Amino acid sequence: MFDDVLKRIEEWDTITIYPHSSPDGDALGSCFGLKELLVNKYPNKKIYVVGTDCSLNQVFFPSFDVVSDEEIKQSLAISLDTANTARVYDQRYTLAPYLIKIDHHPNLEPFGDICIVEDQMGATCELVTMLGQELYQEEPFPALAARYLYAGIMTDTMGFTTSSTNAHSLQMAAYLSQFGVDHNEISYLLTAKEVPMFRFISKLREIAVFEEGFLYIVVPASLYQEYGISYADARNQVSNFAGIKGIKVWCLFTESDGSDNVRYSCSLRSRGIIINDVARDFHGGGHDVAAGAKILSDEELPAILEALRKKVR
Ligand code: AMP
Repeated sequence: MFDDVLKRIEEWDTITIYPHSSPDGDALGSCFGLKELLVNKYPNKKIYVVGTDCSLNQVFFPSFDVVSDEEIKQSLAISLDTANTARVYDQRYTLAPYLIKIDHHPNLEPFGDICIVEDQMGATCELVTMLGQELYQEEPFPALAARYLYAGIMTDTMGFTTSSTNAHSLQMAAYLSQFGVDHNEISYLLTAKEVPMFRFISKLREIAVFEEGFLYIVVPASLYQEYGISYADARNQVSNFAGIKGIKVWCLFTESDGSDNVRYSCSLRSRGIIINDVARDFHGGGHDVAAGAKILSDEELPAILEALRKKVR
């Protein structure tokens, strides 16, 4: 599956790797996992992961690399876990002469000189693990590569609980676990909360609006700021509302702190109802049952709520 990709990797001395914007564990895990696979196999190549640190870098992953435009211009670019070009984290990827896309989102915008997309996979880290198996053959993976890739599979499958978790996700996780992965430690590092976050989530539970089969929460910027929580971390809390009996669609609208050009960033989740078409109608996208949207004006908020209610009905 990765013959062409491995041939290109062989050819280039500098490789730049890009996650999607607002990177999650799968985006970071696939990027840093691939970097570790390549750095150990090719110690003389320059391998960089391009982006800006977020809280997940602090708690689990290393820092992004600082890379000049000149280096990107001479590099092979690899975009991971990113469905569309607008969401590649650092848009300087366009400076690179050759681009590879590897992803597990629906392939609505194929891009890159090589494009490998498997949307039935639970995580992009599964694909990077397969690439690693072709690269390393019978040799063991470097421990850090296994750790980052395992963490990515764990995050996107929410600890192997989502509907996207399948035999392949488990096989890849089992494969990686041979190389010193500590499931309990990784799980703790990725999910343990600071006390203010714990209290903030309790507050979200309090202000959640319950309708027939539908739960939504609108979070004003003043609320997460009161708890000392960043915009990026506040908007990442939708998973706390999975598993409520009778709720088929649940979503979190987080008012922007002004750092992006949206009014509310929105995370949509569902059980058995396709909601990424609604996300796409509101400047977003994602998987069938886990998607994100951007609400650009106050008028769009009641409009997306109504579109979601319709889905539930
Ligand atoms: P989130 O709710 O931010 O965790 O995102 C859920 C899924 O939707 C992830 O796979 C994201 O990559 C994808 N996603 C989120 N926001 C967008 C967007 N604006 N455009 C395309 N895909 C998105």
